[in-house]
Amino acid sequence: MKVLVINAGSSSLKYQLLDMDNEAVMANGIVERIGETVGNLTHKAFPDTDAQKKVVKEEEIKDHKVAMHMVLDLITGTEAGVISDPKEIDAIGHRVVQGGEAFTSACVVDGSVKVAIADNNPLAPLHNPANLMGIEVAEELFPGTPNVAVFDTEFHASMPKEAFLYALPYDYYKELRIRRYGFHGTSHKYVSRKVASLMGKKPEEINVITVHLGNGCSMAAVEKGKCQDTSMGMTPLAGVMMGTRSGDIDPAIVAYIAENKGMSASEVDSLLNKQSGLKGVCGLNDMRDIHSAVENGDEMAKLALDMFAYRVKKYIGAYAAVLGTIDAIVFTAGIGENDDITRALICENLSGLGISMDVEKNKGRKGEPTKIHTDDSKVQVWVIPTNEELQIAQEAVELLK
Ligand code: ADP
Repeated sequence: MKVLVINAGSSSLKYQLLDMDNEAVMANGIVERIGETVGNLTHKAFPDTDAQKKVVKEEEIKDHKVAMHMVLDLITGTEAGVISDPKEIDAIGHRVVQGGEAFTSACVVDGSVKVAIADNNPLAPLHNPANLMGIEVAEELFPGTPNVAVFDTEFHASMPKEAFLYALPYDYYKELRIRRYGFHGTSHKYVSRKVASLMGKKPEEINVITVHLGNGCSMAAVEKGKCQDTSMGMTPLAGVMMGTRSGDIDPAIVAYIAENKGMSASEVDSLLNKQSGLKGVCGLNDMRDIHSAVENGDEMAKLALDMFAYRVKKYIGAYAAVLGTIDAIVFTAGIGENDDITRALICENLSGLGISMDVEKNKGRKGEPTKIHTDDSKVQVWVIPTNEELQIAQEAVELLK
């Protein structure tokens, strides 16, 4: 089976075509600045294991339909194509950010699914409408090919009420659907299953803390294969500190800033999402830049790094308590996979929890699953590259079987 995975954003479209017979990537790419005067597209094709072809285009890309047409032309074209007919694609898997309480697993898209996705638009106004647009464009361009929606929130649907409810008047949960939903679910699911298989266990046999540290950062306490708690909340703003997002703060700060700075609620929301986190503290949001700044003696960059690691460590402690026993911790995503300094800071002094990182094994970037714990560590510590596209494609295949 060949599966095309689509991640449609408000002005971008990421795609990956996978041959699921051997889980190989046939082509992938990204279209950006859709709707602007100059858009761009980068397409990479892997016609066989050793070959790679790259196409870059810069031109006006009016809307997502034009973008998807360009992608289709490229994957079926002579220049950097990998299939000859769009009908060779057996399914299209779509990343949808917010599934709300309606979706606890992936599903084949039909009219009622689209209505239910749109019903969640108020909970993810920047993402869900774009995801839905991606589905509608795919329906038009690939008539007859099944579309599967895979939700960022679905892995977290197993959280119990005591974990997902906020201590607000209960009516607000009923009326406004205010609760913790959690995000990055495909990544937490993928790495928690992967670590189980690498340890020779079934997901139901182990407890895992998954640590996804990219531009957005989130963690999950996964008990016997099911998410018990996660750090992101009703929106992706909650939890650990991130590139530009504050993560958890005292909620009273919102009104305090609004009153003292004369800002509206949405202006404070934007401050917390776009001008806070690592960037807010030291002016830099890319971890590589932060390390360079630290090397050059920048004290604010060092403070931002320490704050970042401290908050992740705190969540490890909280999730150790939630799970009772931990079998493994998994680091993933840009920082989790590549940043040995941050991993080391996070795992410092955790031996009381049975977590002992091996300094040598931790060193360097990890392009493949790697154990980084000492031989006597009770808890295994792993770095596992995440693969959200593969997870989405696997769910599409399972559903259509
Ligand atoms: P996104 O959430 O956008 O998918 P990624 O998972 O790609 O983000 O992660 C982006 C983050 O990973 C950035 O903070 C970047 O600095 C960091 N990163 C990538 N490579 C390295 C590296 N070699 N060392 C430290 N940080 C890295």
